[in-house]
Amino acid sequence: MAFPQDRPRRLRRTEALRSLVRETTLSPDDLVWPLFVVPGERVRRPVKSMPGVFQLSVDELVAEAQAGWQAGVRSVILFGVPEAKDAVGSGAYADDGIVPRAVRALKERVPGLVVMTDVCLCEYTDHGHCGVLRPARVGAPGAALTVDNDLTLPLLAKEAVAHARAGADLVAPSDMMDGRVAAIRAGLDAAGFDDVPILSYAAKFAGAFYGPFRDAAESAPREGPGVPTDRKAYQMDPANWREALREVELDVAEGADLVMVKPAVPYLDIVRLVRDRFLLPTAAYHVSGEYAMIKAAAERGWIDEDRVVLETLLCCRRAGADLVLTYYARHAAALLTGNRA
Ligand SMILES: [Zn+2]
Repeated sequence: MAFPQDRPRRLRRTEALRSLVRETTLSPDDLVWPLFVVPGERVRRPVKSMPGVFQLSVDELVAEAQAGWQAGVRSVILFGVPEAKDAVGSGAYADDGIVPRAVRALKERVPGLVVMTDVCLCEYTDHGHCGVLRPARVGAPGAALTVDNDLTLPLLAKEAVAHARAGADLVAPSDMMDGRVAAIRAGLDAAGFDDVPILSYAAKFAGAFYGPFRDAAESAPREGPGVPTDRKAYQMDPANWREALREVELDVAEGADLVMVKPAVPYLDIVRLVRDRFLLPTAAYHVSGEYAMIKAAAERGWIDEDRVVLETLLCCRRAGADLVLTYYARHAAALLTGNRA
């Protein structure tokens, strides 16, 4: 042996030795559990493309969060599906909207739980876009519509304030409008919520991994005259890493308290770049398509679900994610704590 001093496997001999030199850990404290809340009572509607994920009425949401808490989950993020949708997403910023009702119930019934809320319009607009639409500029074909960035900003700020007023611990804008972190920060501060932090979906890539989520949140863009069929005009091109850093830089400058990269696993290089370049806590969102792929392979017996889940989340951490949003949060927490409720 040419280099007998260079034998890393000496430190891999026993689990105790491996633990001693382990560089990254995964704990339930690192996980955020996305939950979908819908109107009604005793509603627990399975999301077909996401086995184990449900659309929950507020009462069922509370029970789900309590079960998660038992397993070790300490943070959730809420997505709302409203009673009714309209062109300007009114349900998003109503004080008695579905998310504020859910926040109030969770703060009362699961004290200690960190309740984050998604701030966006796509679950609330009848066209399914993340902002309000207006006719595209002159010269665009026919009745073409486009998302109006600046008309959307005050609505997002109103939505964030409605969530904060209900007791949300943190708001997380996912719309990808330019300037929305500053608009939301100003709105929160003006309403007296200067202590509510903003987790910005800073680098959110337009791609194919969100399909199952759109079933769960009923937020896919709908077909209609002139309505854009995708979100590529405001979400990022998966090919671009420098643009991702610019997006993060802008959100940091606008006052984001934490920044997120989404999706997670195919974008771990971006997570690492963001983690190295910025000093704010970094989140990775292990999205619905990533969840569905593990579920589908596990259901067929092709992979060991528990091991793949823990490895996947650990690798998100190793890439630099301080926190990971994952539909596997309860499952993973139960594996980590041994509390299988
Ligand atoms: Zn959206």
